[in-house]
Amino acid sequence: MKTIASVAQMQHAVADLHLAGKRIGFVPTMGALHEGHLSLVKQCKAENDCCVVSIFVNPTQFNDKRDLSNYPRNLSKDEAMLQSAGCDFVFAPTTDEIYADVEIDKPFEFDFNGLDKVMEGKFRPNHFNGVVQIVSKLFSIVLPNKAYFGEKDFQQLAVIKYMTSTMRFDTEIVPCPIVREPLGLAMSSRNELLSTEERKIAQNISKVLFESRNFVNQKSPADIQREVIEQINGIAALQVEYFEIVNGDSLQSIQNWTDAPYIVGCITVFCGKVRLIDNIRYI
Ligand code: AMP
Repeated sequence: MKTIASVAQMQHAVADLHLAGKRIGFVPTMGALHEGHLSLVKQCKAENDCCVVSIFVNPTQFNDKRDLSNYPRNLSKDEAMLQSAGCDFVFAPTTDEIYADVEIDKPFEFDFNGLDKVMEGKFRPNHFNGVVQIVSKLFSIVLPNKAYFGEKDFQQLAVIKYMTSTMRFDTEIVPCPIVREPLGLAMSSRNELLSTEERKIAQNISKVLFESRNFVNQKSPADIQREVIEQINGIAALQVEYFEIVNGDSLQSIQNWTDAPYIVGCITVFCGKVRLIDNIRYI
């Protein structure tokens, strides 16, 4: 495994691989890796000749500067984990290296056809513009045949699929299932910021979501939405920011279970000061 910090060196490595007819798989991350990330890396390695993982905490997708400065970082630990998962190249550029050609305070604007107006988009203005800015840049450097994204960031996955098709990248987007802790909490780099007590409490988020699935045939989406929010807000230290039951393709809210063939409940909850996201497939 080789770690590369320079864009030019990464491009040279990629050019050599493509010239040799190798298929490149790519996993973009912000580091502070856990088993959730590694599941993407292992799938990537199994399906491609070469696995490239990027580690870059992208400042343009953080609307809260404190969240950016608190974001956990540990490159040497990440490298050891990636080596054991079979990664071939770690691309870990600095902010100056990746954004040498742009003013990062100048907002990047992409037309999401409405995908950015709901859920995360409502609460994190410009977040998805920053995500598209970095992922499109990384795609143009790494030129991957396949790129792997977790279903944990459900709206991000929809945005990336849309970006890939409108920007005409020749890259297949591969969705990967959510990896959870043994008691159900979706693995996240932000879990490291929870106290031991908060981590226990946060397990209730997935517990309430899983239980709500048992009522799909008896209750309306609006009733399930209200009850999930009430139950989670009833637990000390947890505060729901939003919980929406949506068409899994368009991300628009649904009224009836028959409104879409694929229905997902997406939630964001504050556990103390830590913002956690999760989702569950209903249909
Ligand atoms: P991040 O470093 O948080 O930007 O995540 C990098 C990639 O890993 C994204 O595609 C995430 O959706 C994915 N990911 C993060 N946590 C999980 C998880 N618990 N299960 C599956 N994929 C995940």
